[in-house]
Amino acid sequence: MRKYIAMVITTALAVSSCDGTKTSGKSTDNFDYTVEQFADLQILRYQVPGFDQLSLKQKELIYYLSEAALYGRDILFDQNGKYNLLIRRTLEAVYENYQGNRNSTDFTNFEIYLKRVWFANGVHHHYGMEKFIPGFSEEFFRNEINKLNKSLLPLTDGQSVEQLCDLIFPVIFDPLIMPKRVNQAAGEDVVLTSACNYYEGVTQKEAEKFYNTLKDSADTTPVSYGLNSRLVKENGEIKEKVWKIGGLYTHSLEKIVFWLKKAESVAENEAQKLVINKLIEYYQTGNLKTFDDYAILWVKDLDSRIDFVNGFTETYGDPLGMKASWESLVNFKDLEATHRTELISNNAQWFEDHSPVENRFKKEEVKGVSAKVITAAILAGDLYPATAIGINLPNSNWIRSVYGSKSVTIGNITDAYNKAAHGNGFNEEFVYSDEERELIDKYGDLTSNLHTDLHECLGHGSGKLLPGVDPDGLKAYGSTIEETRADLFGLYYIADSRLIELGLTPNEEAFKAEYYTYLMNGLMTQLVRIEPGNNIEEAHMRNRQLIARWIYEKGKTNKVVEIVQKDGKSFVVINDYQRVRQLVGELLAEVQRIKSTGDLDAARNLVETYAVKVDPVLHQEILTRYKKLNLSPYKGFINPVYETVVDRNGNITDVKVSYTEGYTEQMLRYSKKYATLPSYN
Ligand code: ZN
Repeated sequence: MRKYIAMVITTALAVSSCDGTKTSGKSTDNFDYTVEQFADLQILRYQVPGFDQLSLKQKELIYYLSEAALYGRDILFDQNGKYNLLIRRTLEAVYENYQGNRNSTDFTNFEIYLKRVWFANGVHHHYGMEKFIPGFSEEFFRNEINKLNKSLLPLTDGQSVEQLCDLIFPVIFDPLIMPKRVNQAAGEDVVLTSACNYYEGVTQKEAEKFYNTLKDSADTTPVSYGLNSRLVKENGEIKEKVWKIGGLYTHSLEKIVFWLKKAESVAENEAQKLVINKLIEYYQTGNLKTFDDYAILWVKDLDSRIDFVNGFTETYGDPLGMKASWESLVNFKDLEATHRTELISNNAQWFEDHSPVENRFKKEEVKGVSAKVITAAILAGDLYPATAIGINLPNSNWIRSVYGSKSVTIGNITDAYNKAAHGNGFNEEFVYSDEERELIDKYGDLTSNLHTDLHECLGHGSGKLLPGVDPDGLKAYGSTIEETRADLFGLYYIADSRLIELGLTPNEEAFKAEYYTYLMNGLMTQLVRIEPGNNIEEAHMRNRQLIARWIYEKGKTNKVVEIVQKDGKSFVVINDYQRVRQLVGELLAEVQRIKSTGDLDAARNLVETYAVKVDPVLHQEILTRYKKLNLSPYKGFINPVYETVVDRNGNITDVKVSYTEGYTEQMLRYSKKYATLPSYN
């Protein structure tokens, strides 16, 4: 499972403002996190702090695992659609050999299309799943293809240029052909109507029947059926084409295994060596039982500094949720940040005992969850360029309940999102005055991370239900109330002097940055994600508005929090931060009471009164102001480049990391160096 960036608002990034002036994403540490912006996308880059301090052997390990990661790139393109590799290669051939005016409208739109295909690993939007509409004409593309020397095109044996065009043009230009990568519409055959390449010639019914027959309901340790194969019908027979060495995608998997073997030779310890070895065996056999064995070894390996994901992992891209897209993430533990979550976790009992909720709702014995913070070294496959900020694996339910799972937060990616947001104009537009902006600049990133840690490590685990209370008693309001509880726990303690004693916050001012951004977001700015006329549906968004509105209303008579008008615009002003904290405590006590006693009426009342409805006038104002900032709703990352330094005898003496490669440069390099698969598979 993956966790995505939650606060899209504060991390929404801009490169160009409405008058066309460019604001750089250069931050205080002098690293330029922003690369470029096109369509609805922004490309960022991330740093790998701590890499230079790793041992040579650890650097080597990361280098080998990175190569194993990048060699899987073609697999995902093919999984996302049958013609994706063919289309990408044809586009790239035209792009690299184009002799005409590179500033012409057709070429500019052609370039944007190619960049989107790279970003989405195919011709469908990475998030919305709908097919891209090209901004260039068929004639333009056909002419340019015809101008090329045949050897530059991905023609298969005997195929003419005309045949190539006939094959891919409908897929690119006809909106009715393969319109969605994953179709979830109820009532339709989601297998036949999805463009993803996980099924060939089979209907949804046939696919479901095939797997239902394999499943044994008495099996308490079932493998993940269908995870690593394409289901096809050949000569009337339905069968799996397994992704393994000697099977489908063999050319990629051979390369991946080659680099995994090198990684195995420099493993940090025996446990890690076993993990890599088992993964190799799985790629060689395609045996899903071996995959489970690998997952168990992986989840048990907690001591290694370096860790990685490499394989067919998440099933979001299959309409039936069985077949996994290929992805890889190479990372190492961020010792300092992990220390932070451990410190919080180790003090969990103190926080529980001192919380403002009634004693009968407190846990006598509470265990904090210690989330590991990692530094990403390379992103690949379905985690590139768009990526998650947190990962929780393995996905197999029985393995999770017997052996547990690893939950990680990717620190340097979160950091890059935050840093790139500096100077994007968002805070200038929505924050009341320089005083608040300075607070946010100084403490915002720190307190936002800390609030997330408190929410995850303590908030969800705190409190208890009274005996006999149904855990699902709050019904549809349950998840909003639960998120509200966890957020309030974090907000309450972020302002506590205990955090200063523990060295987690620097002083008594810092928490104000989180209070201000939280209330601004909950009262106003999160509305940019809501279409005009709609209510708030999503649990996290409801929770934020619930807290912000409740505090605003309760503090109204004393003007604790106000929404004031300045130059015809609305702004949040906090006049009394200490009183806000008291109100946070009061609401936490009430929300915990609702949860502990299963008070459905109170839950409904709280949510319906504060969390759902939107002030249409304020909403429109926020949307208009936000639109003017020209921020991209989606973001992705390019990778750093790792290069080995080799001595006269061919031994690696160092691995250097650099951050100068551009987006197009990286994509074209990957397309050449890591080209492993034929255009058809
Ligand atoms: Zn939560």
